[in-house]
This record gives sequence, structure tokens and C-alpha cells, in this order.
Amino acid sequence: MNFALTTLLTFLLMEGITWCTHKYIMHGFGWFLHEDHHQPGYPHVFEKNDAFFVVFAVPSILLFYFGIRPELNVLFFIGLGILFYGIAYFLVHDVLIHRRFKWFKNTNNQYLKGLRKAHKIHHKHLGKPDGECFGMLFVPLKYFKKVQ
Ligand SMILES: [Zn+2]
Ligand SMILES: [Zn+2]
Ligand SMILES: [Zn+2]
Repeated sequence: MNFALTTLLTFLLMEGITWCTHKYIMHGFGWFLHEDHHQPGYPHVFEKNDAFFVVFAVPSILLFYFGIRPELNVLFFIGLGILFYGIAYFLVHDVLIHRRFKWFKNTNNQYLKGLRKAHKIHHKHLGKPDGECFGMLFVPLKYFKKVQ
């Protein structure tokens, strides 16, 4: 398969994988690490939740390692898709939604506003079992209607 297409497909697939890990792992047995992210106010610079960045970096690192051995192969481009998704997730979730860095402050983009709204609703739930909006980049259409 075309390498660029592999990267793109991996990126798209990562949204589904993220939805599942968020719902079943982070809100499941991994809740002890994700819990502080659901506390209002985010009092700390680093959260225990940040450990998931390290966890999710491992498959990507392995794919890069085996993706150039013995020569450049498809695994490298799968790793690239995961890396790009990780960067997008960080920019959207940590910078845009939670404002951990004050990079782009005033946005009037409808997609970005709907996206914030959806994730704020995810954060309305402070406990482990209930929840909604586990995804990140693909926002259900109804949240765009609410912003207008
Ligand atoms: Zn959550
Ligand atoms: Zn904390
Ligand atoms: Zn969040």
C-alpha cells in the first residue's frame, strides 16, 4: 500500500483506538491515573494522567525501530500516523481545550468551538463509570448545533 495512505489511515484509526482506550482503559482499570484529570481546576502542572503520553509513545517507538530494519518498511509509516495523532491530540486536548499553554487563545472557528464543547461535557462527569464524548477529533454533529 501507498505509504502516505498508510499514515493517513493509521491517523484516522487512532481516533477509534483512542475512543476505546479512553472509555475502557482510562475509565476502567487505568482510572487511578486518569482520575486527577477529571478533577475541576487542574491544580498541578503535571497530572498523573500525563503518564498515558508515555504509554502511548511505546508502540510508536517500536514501530519506528522495526520500521527501518532491515530497511524502510510499512511499519515506519504506521508509527508516523500514531505520532501525528499524538501531536494533534496534544494540541487539541491539552493546548486548545485545557489551555495548559496559552498558544492560540481566541478562536472563532466553529469546528474548534464544537470540539471544546464536546470535551467539556466529557469533563462534567467527575466519576469513573458514567461518561460521554470519549473521542477527540471527531465531534458528534449535535455539539455544533449547541454552539450556534
Ligand atoms: Zn476521561
Ligand atoms: Zn493532578
Ligand atoms: Zn480533558
